[in-house]
Amino acid sequence: MLFPRAVLPSLLHLTPRWLEERGLKGVILDLDNTLLPYGEEEPLPEHQAWLEALKAEVPVYLLSNALPDRFARIQGRLGLPGHAPALKPWLGFQRALKALGLPPQEVAVVGDQIFTDVLGGNLVGAYTVLVPPLREREFFYTRFIRMLETPFRRPRGGLG
Ligand SMILES: [Mg+2]
Repeated sequence: MLFPRAVLPSLLHLTPRWLEERGLKGVILDLDNTLLPYGEEEPLPEHQAWLEALKAEVPVYLLSNALPDRFARIQGRLGLPGHAPALKPWLGFQRALKALGLPPQEVAVVGDQIFTDVLGGNLVGAYTVLVPPLREREFFYTRFIRMLETPFRRPRGGLG
């Protein structure tokens, strides 16, 4: 439940073609440290371009634990469906799947955290994709969580 199905070196590797090759038809995307550097409200230019190319081909749904006001500003700017706070890993994924109108096995859940994104995506049977965090928070709590995550930051079943 804690291992992602795939680990990518960056978000930019998640292309429409990569998704198509795996039978994936939609994306549930995390916000903080996945699409946006933590605490920021605008993506880096390369991630903005990546998102434009992706959403032209497949539906993308933003699922974040961010606070609602900040999330609403970001969502408005990006022009994507989504909701927050999602209370990942326990809540939010079913609602996201319903909004996408796709079965879980055809949806990639993409995020930087094992205990929210990967666990939550695996619990609903989606195809989980782990990417490296864009910016580490320096809080002790986050460093502690990263340490607990370390054994799981690889695909289930070994290399790949
Ligand atoms: Mg995140």
